[in-house]
Amino acid sequence: MDKYLIKLKDVPPQGLALEISDQTIWIEPIKEFKLPYKIRQDIKSIIKIQVQGNVCMIKGTIEGSLNIPCDRCLEDATVCISETFKVIEQPLKKDTLDISFIVEKDGELFLDLAGILWERLVLNIPSKILCSEDCKGLCPYCGANKNIVQCNCKKEMVDPRLEVLRKIKIS
Ligand SMILES: [Zn+2]
Ligand SMILES: [Zn+2]
Repeated sequence: MDKYLIKLKDVPPQGLALEISDQTIWIEPIKEFKLPYKIRQDIKSIIKIQVQGNVCMIKGTIEGSLNIPCDRCLEDATVCISETFKVIEQPLKKDTLDISFIVEKDGELFLDLAGILWERLVLNIPSKILCSEDCKGLCPYCGANKNIVQCNCKKEMVDPRLEVLRKIKIS
């Protein structure tokens, strides 16, 4: 988002302090990448940017919460985000595959603040989302949420590979 491109030259020597509560920073990439995330509690970030030459140091906090479907039962699970971070960004050297949040535009260097804040959010989302540690998940046979209902599938449970064999009648 161009609005959050900060020209390195414009950052005063004592640094630039910002309080960010504009949810579009996070909502836009959620939409763009079609992620099943919903913001539950507004995400807020307080940061300080310091620049020395072409190197940028960004220190701050990010807080808020998201609703994300549980990996087992697909019901919403709440993921709390609360982090203090410090990142150092510098322009990319040529021929590297690294990603930098310092971008060049019209011969000037800018810090992509929205990119940094999106990355902080993503890095704080666990790879496994569970509504609770002991979530029982969905029944693989009838699809019932086993946290809420107790279906009878277990009693009749047959390995689907054996089910094929069972159907073969020997005459
Ligand atoms: Zn669950
Ligand atoms: Zn079932």
